[in-house]
Amino acid sequence: MPKAVSILATCIALALATPAQAEDWSLVIHGGAGTIQRENMTPEREAEIRAALDAALEAGSNVLRDGGSSLDAVTAAINILEDDPNFNAGRGAVFTWEETNSLDASIMRGDTLAAGAVAGASRTRHPIDLARKVMEESPHVLLSGEGADQFAREKGLEQVDPSYFYTQERYDALVRFKARAMQEEEARQLDVDYKFGTVGAVAMDQDGVISAGTSTGGMTGKRWGRIGDSPIIGAGTYANASCGVSATGTGEMFIRLSVAYRICEGSARAEEASPVSSVRQEAIAALMDEVNSQTHTNADLAIDAVGQLGGSGGVIFLSSDGTPGWSFDTPGMYRGSVTSGGEKVVSIYGDEE
Ligand code: ASP
Repeated sequence: MPKAVSILATCIALALATPAQAEDWSLVIHGGAGTIQRENMTPEREAEIRAALDAALEAGSNVLRDGGSSLDAVTAAINILEDDPNFNAGRGAVFTWEETNSLDASIMRGDTLAAGAVAGASRTRHPIDLARKVMEESPHVLLSGEGADQFAREKGLEQVDPSYFYTQERYDALVRFKARAMQEEEARQLDVDYKFGTVGAVAMDQDGVISAGTSTGGMTGKRWGRIGDSPIIGAGTYANASCGVSATGTGEMFIRLSVAYRICEGSARAEEASPVSSVRQEAIAALMDEVNSQTHTNADLAIDAVGQLGGSGGVIFLSSDGTPGWSFDTPGMYRGSVTSGGEKVVSIYGDEE
């Protein structure tokens, strides 16, 4: 079949297919991926985690429903998880080798490609808010260490004593990690009953602007000032006009593969390739279905590539019409989504929706 006829036939076929309904707004969140299995979970803990994910979705969706910005929705959702000791971000962050908590976060808005990030903060209660201040009130993208906390103080962000971030459970995990590292000579960061616990959110507001953010304590026993993917724009977080991603997992591999950028960039190219200007509305919606599935495919491919490098983890994403999705290769990932036209979903295990 000649190419023009073939494109026309495709468009007619797509127009006849049930078109996707674009969302007015949408939100997807995660609370980390890892060895999360039913047999290791108490009913109380599971209920707490589900309630926290639900509360984060609620906080973010209230913003979006009221016509607020996707940036506000991302920070509202992440603030809830940063305050919850069940997650490895803010209070409840994992410990470094030196028995401190060192916090990383990043945020990006897709329409302008503005971005902000912080690495190694230790006194700012909400690292995601600090990342946003860096984006909106500094000429920089990434601040680190004591300077980052100093900037937070100058901008009036809430400061806490470093002991605020301490939790017994995370401290015990460090003790186990060290004992094992001593035995094995080489510190292996990737097991020790590992649950990544990083948190993230991606939102699309009623103006169609997509934003993404991620906040973490990093990995248990990290040392030498190690920084993972979470504060690296393009690795742990990325957003553009048609896609947003937040990641969790073995940060080194996510950095090496530019995972978040890779997923969004692939989706943008798929969208450009779609002949949307020349077809009817229904066909446009059907073509968007293709782009959505392309975003999902890109996410699956990226996680597969992480696995090939010896890492593991997951991503959440939104594609250009606000369709939420996730991909992970771990037994579970704390996750949830809600859209203007759909149900709220909260899931933990790999066999759930
Ligand atoms: N990606 C984070 C890091 O490597 C860890 C996590 O997702 O829990 O620092």
